[in-house]
This record gives sequence, structure tokens and C-alpha cells, in this order.
Amino acid sequence: MPTKSQVLFAKARQLMPGGVNSPVRAFRAVGGDPVFIASGKGATMTDIDGKSYIDYVLSWGPLILGHAHQEVVEELAKVLETGTSFGACTPREVELAERIVEAYPSIERVRLVNSGTEATLSALRVARAATGRDKILKFEGCYHGHGDSLLVKAGSGVATLGLPDSPGVPRALAELTVTVPFNDIEALEEAFRAHRMELAAAIVEPVVGNMGCVLPRPGFLQKLRALTEEQGTVLIFDEVMTGFRVAYGGAQQLYKIDPDMTTLGKIIGGGLPVGAYGGKARLMDLVAPTGPVYQAGTLSGNPLAVAAGLKTLEILRRPGLYERLDLLTAKLTNGLMAEGARQGVALTVNRVGSMFTAFFTPNPVGDYASAKKSDATAYGIFFRALLDSGVYFPPSQFEAAFVSTSHSEGDVAATLSAASAAFAGLRA
Ligand SMILES: *Cc1c(COP(=O)(O)O)cnc(C)c1O
Repeated sequence: MPTKSQVLFAKARQLMPGGVNSPVRAFRAVGGDPVFIASGKGATMTDIDGKSYIDYVLSWGPLILGHAHQEVVEELAKVLETGTSFGACTPREVELAERIVEAYPSIERVRLVNSGTEATLSALRVARAATGRDKILKFEGCYHGHGDSLLVKAGSGVATLGLPDSPGVPRALAELTVTVPFNDIEALEEAFRAHRMELAAAIVEPVVGNMGCVLPRPGFLQKLRALTEEQGTVLIFDEVMTGFRVAYGGAQQLYKIDPDMTTLGKIIGGGLPVGAYGGKARLMDLVAPTGPVYQAGTLSGNPLAVAAGLKTLEILRRPGLYERLDLLTAKLTNGLMAEGARQGVALTVNRVGSMFTAFFTPNPVGDYASAKKSDATAYGIFFRALLDSGVYFPPSQFEAAFVSTSHSEGDVAATLSAASAAFAGLRA
């Protein structure tokens, strides 16, 4: 008997490309059919066949408080009664902008948009306008949404599916994107030599999440800051994933770097569609209507997303919250490493705060090439074993996993025991 999810997926495949609205959801990289989710509460989500999972995907990062957090739901219910969109100014937009500017000293002005993709492509437009240059620099395996200029050597679903650069992106545009391996200071210097004074922007995930979790080596972000400053290149930190995740003030707080522009998304929408880009006033004042760079949005700053984001940030400011998340996630990742070692499974676990990836490789993972050396087949077997025992990990080796404030010590213990059985199955 097929499950309800399997029946629905067969139907979905007739109606949507691959049956999904975002590629990685199709489980292509790990095999098997995806499960359809009926509901979520706290750290748990339940599929339409009634099976529950401890969730470490958390909508790919936004749900740092877990699913359907009581206070967020109550806030949304209140706002819902008063109208969902006006296409006009609303007070909460100002409040969210204020919270962002307070938390990110590098952001003097901010514009709300509807997705991370919109945020990064808008930031690039500003950088190109500000510098009068066309070329941009990005890092291999970093994902910045699916804007044309940024779909070159991209991570996330592009890496998961092993796609070369996407067809449909005009070659003339792709040629303006220079790519460099992450964490490679020499290659970075070489790129800035070869394209001297020609780079409008350098965009980076300061902690990468989209080739799996990869940390910057000491000195790498500092070098990037120095080179961009020297050549008048706009440094864009894409903190769509890391913003309010690795610390309240993001990776720029953690690594003490002052970027020119920052993109945000995910957590600032509390699970509703949102994005933001911001930075130095001299750059952001180029945006219409203050300046000539056009960017707009029918639903931008919509009351529901803004309310969910504001409530989420309010809760995140409560004392001790990030410390607890850090300890709980460390317990999980240390447990995975210890159990992997005990069973002789070659595992490298990267973690910053409550984001992590367990790479199935014995070697350190510091860039896209080393991430790609992971045994994705082993990961797929591991993933499916976890899924069977009620633990939902990312359906790809090249995506970060997350822990929420709703996860408990019990969830972590249950996950470790499921992982232990999965490792045993892998060896067999
Ligand atoms: C998720 C993500 C994006 C894209 O955001 P969407 O809301 O999916 O368009 C961009 N950059 C990074 C670093 C992301 O993690």
C-alpha cells in the first residue's frame, strides 16, 4: 500500500515541475519520495500519514523558535483581524527596521522585501550603481538565491542536484560574475589583481550554509574586507541564513567585520515570506525614492510577515537564549562525532551556534571542493534511516541543519540514538 504522501506526490508530479515548488524538497539527492507535512508544533512536525519527526530543517532556517510558537501564533492572529496588506505605510515596518538597525551597526538604512533572492539581487543593483562597475565576485558553493548573476557555481539546490551553471542565464551576464573558492586567500588576492578596480561587489555567506555548514578560516573575512575596502568594492554579507542565527547580530557580530551591505531573510520573517537589504546610508540612499536605483514590492513589509518577525526577534532578545541553543547543539554535534568515531564512520561535523552539518568524510571541510568529497550516498542512507526513525535531517548532504529553542535534551538524546542505529545500518 502506498502512503498518502506517495499518492499525493504522484499527483503533484503531474502538476508541478518535479512535484515541488523548490527543488531540494523532492528528495532527489537522498532517494525515496518526500513526505507531505500536515502540521508542526515546537520541534516536531507530522506528515499526512500521521508520522511525527524531530525537525532539524525548520523551514531551512527561519523557525529558530520551532513550529507554531505560541506567542508568534497569537501575534499573527491579532494582526490577521486587522487586515493583511495595505500597500501603504504601517507602524510595524518602522519597528522592524529599528530592530534591524539596532542589531546590525553596519546597517544604517534598510529596505524590506519578500525573499532572500530579492534582497541579494537588489543589493547587487545598488552596488553596481554606486560603483559604476558591472563585475561581481562570489565564492564557489555559496548560494545567494536564484538571481541570474548569482546562479554561477552556486550552492544549495544547485549543488544538491550537481547542476552546472543554470541554463537560461545569459552568458553575457554570467561572464560578469567572478568566482573564487571559499577560504582561499591567494585566489582571492589573484582575483582582485586580475580584476583590479573592476569589481562592483563581493558577496559572501560569512558562515556558509549552502554547501553544508562551512566556517571561515581565521583571517579570510578580514582579508576580504581589506581588499574590498582598498579597491572601493562593496562588501555584501549575505546573512539571510546566519542573521539572528549564529548570533543575534549575525556573523558580522561574531567575527567583528563591518560590511558595506547586508542581506537578511529567513528568521526576520518568523516563518513568513520576507527579506531585507541594508547598509551604509551613502549606499542605501541611492535607492528610490531617495535615489535613482529602482526597487519596489506590492507586498513588501506586509503586516503578517513583519509581525511574525518582530515577535520572533523580541523572543530572541531574552537572556540566555543563544547560550542555551549553543550548548544544546554542541551536545548533538559532539554526540554525532563521538558515535561516528566509536563505530568507525568517517564523519566531519562543522558547527557555528545552532547551525551544523555532518559531512560523511574524514577530512576537514573548508570549501566547496572538500565538501564535494563527502560520501553523498552514505548521507542518503543515513538520512533515510533517520527519517524512518522519526528524525528529519536536510534531504541533502550540502545543506545546513538547525536546532530551535523548542528542541529539548530529550529530542537530542532521541536523535543521537537514531543516529547510532543509522551508523550501524550504514556499516552493514
Ligand atoms: C535562503 C538563502 C537565500 C535565498 O532566500 P530565499 O528567501 O529562498 O529567496 C539567499 N542567501 C542565503 C545565504 C540563503 O541561505
